[in-house]
Amino acid sequence: MTSNDSDLSDLSGLFAGATDAGSLLGDGSLLGNGSGNGLGDGSGAGSPSADSADGSLPGNGSIGNADSSAAGTSASATPDASDASAASANVSSAHTHRVVIVGSGPAGWTAALYLGRAGFKPLVIAGALTPGGQLVNTSTVENYPGFPDGVQGPDLMQAMQKQAEKFGATVVYNDVTRVTLSDDADGYKTLVLDSGEVHKAQAVILTTGSQYRHLNVPGEKEYGGHGVSYCATCDGFFFRGKKIAVVGGGDSAFQDALFLTRFADVTLIHRREGFRASKVLVDRARTNPKIAFRLNATVSEITGDGQKVTGVTLLDPRDGSTSHLALDGLFVAIGMTPNTAFLGGQVTLDDHGYIVTDGGSTRTNVPGVFAAGDVADPVYQQAVSAAGMGCRAALDAQAYLDR
Ligand SMILES: Cc1cc2nc3c(=O)[nH]c(=O)nc-3n(C[C@H](O)[C@H](O)[C@H](O)COP(=O)(O)OP(=O)(O)OC[C@H]3O[C@@H](n4cnc5c(N)ncnc54)[C@H](O)[C@@H]3O)c2cc1C
Repeated sequence: MTSNDSDLSDLSGLFAGATDAGSLLGDGSLLGNGSGNGLGDGSGAGSPSADSADGSLPGNGSIGNADSSAAGTSASATPDASDASAASANVSSAHTHRVVIVGSGPAGWTAALYLGRAGFKPLVIAGALTPGGQLVNTSTVENYPGFPDGVQGPDLMQAMQKQAEKFGATVVYNDVTRVTLSDDADGYKTLVLDSGEVHKAQAVILTTGSQYRHLNVPGEKEYGGHGVSYCATCDGFFFRGKKIAVVGGGDSAFQDALFLTRFADVTLIHRREGFRASKVLVDRARTNPKIAFRLNATVSEITGDGQKVTGVTLLDPRDGSTSHLALDGLFVAIGMTPNTAFLGGQVTLDDHGYIVTDGGSTRTNVPGVFAAGDVADPVYQQAVSAAGMGCRAALDAQAYLDR
């Protein structure tokens, strides 16, 4: 995409606002390969080879026992899949590892790459629904360094996985549903998967990312990636000179609105007159001639022509009246939900549910447990910052394991 490509109709599917699995990419294909796992052809996926047995500690079922044929599938059935009650320690039937990484976005694969190269043969528990993370639901990524012509999100994630696997990382496609992060008598933390499979590790890196909150109104799903975006930094560029709006009243909404004025005039839509955003941001927006406000307004529907967004219906909650605002693009900035519920309160979280790390490190409050990427980063939330933090988590975990 260049700045000369100003016709939004050309952009259909090119900007990266699609958030739901199954949303169409530019070529009309589903997530690159039409498969549910979003990782290209899944080659190499889910392939804990015989090799992986080396990564397991002696005397235990190795992940080599995991369903090595389960390439690209979500749940790898194992001999102990029925062991759903093994929440805290059944070392004899659990798979044991030196280090397990939970999550397979840029942070997870980068951590796996570093730990793989360091000889730790990490296991990546990739998640069942979106292995590869948020970028598998994206088309062109233009701001990941090293790709002057941009790169398709699923291709980037597939390459990261391949690189990590090349150095000995193995993968299980399932969700962690329960954890015991304090060490058992043998010095292992316990992770129980949705399948019932139990994995134990001396160190754990949490890279489970976060999810954009949705408006849940008609048209939102249909036009995701076709005018509805959740990431101003990612997609603002594609709306140069267009009619755009931001929904929300917090810091992110104001930051997005201010950022987007580089490309176009912006309307900020908020359901009431007061804002949660900090005063400095509100003042900056109020004095910016490129930002207009539609207050006491909630988006009740996103309308379009079948191809792309053409506007929104706004509802005034005070009297129930409605109005229409013509738009080319709508940026939804009503917050993120970090994926931390499965931790059951064992790791210190901030007020918004993000994992708190110790100073500039990736250490959590639990010894041997590290966190990286969006799940521990309420501020930057970019692929490259997640990858960088994944690198730091790997080095922190390595230092812990080598202590
Ligand atoms: C539509 C869209 C477009 C974007 N475009 C860009 C862009 O152009 N450039 C850019 O830099 N950034 C972009 N981003 C942001 C970028 O995708 C994120 O910052 C980045 O993916 C965060 O990486 P992560 O590794 O922290 O987590 P994620 O990528 O969110 O990965 C989290 C992983 O954790 C797994 N997981 C979650 N819970 C569990 C569990 N209980 N058990 C096991 N696994 C679990 C998930 O399956 C997933 O694999 C975009 C985001 C979206 C949604």
